[in-house]
Amino acid sequence: MLPDGLAPDDFGAPPRVHEGTLALPSMPRLAPLLAVQEGQAWVRLEGGLDEAGRRVLEGRIEASVPVTCQRCLGIYHHPVSGAFRVVVVATEEEGEALPDDLEPYVSGSSVRPLQVVEEEILLALPVVSRHPGEECAPPEHGAGVAREALSPFASLQGKVRRRGSGD
Ligand SMILES: [Zn+2]
Repeated sequence: MLPDGLAPDDFGAPPRVHEGTLALPSMPRLAPLLAVQEGQAWVRLEGGLDEAGRRVLEGRIEASVPVTCQRCLGIYHHPVSGAFRVVVVATEEEGEALPDDLEPYVSGSSVRPLQVVEEEILLALPVVSRHPGEECAPPEHGAGVAREALSPFASLQGKVRRRGSGD
């Protein structure tokens, strides 16, 4: 089961493991981007402590996100499969003080798995969603192209956390 929030006690050595699923429509920033209000993310989280006593959250996410293809306007499922590792910090300043190879995650006393997972999914979605390869059947006219400029992904992705390198 995934708790709603991870308290300091949920981080330890050896790492505390939590596994479960989260409904995609329950994620407030992701929900408006879904082509249909359904789908789940499978999540495994490990709350650990590093050698400096910092709270480290490692996670793995598997999801199939229903999005609208901006070329043919059909629905397809964008696969999200990835891992992440963040260091939980209390303030932006604390995050900036971390060594460069550590990714800060600013949080209050409790880390919300729903929020962390939503952010990772938003980062994994393409700026312009499109069917892969030959599965796409584009319309004859240019409607799909015009809609790309209005893609909700383009504006949203600028607002979520950026990372220096991939997984
Ligand atoms: Zn398509």
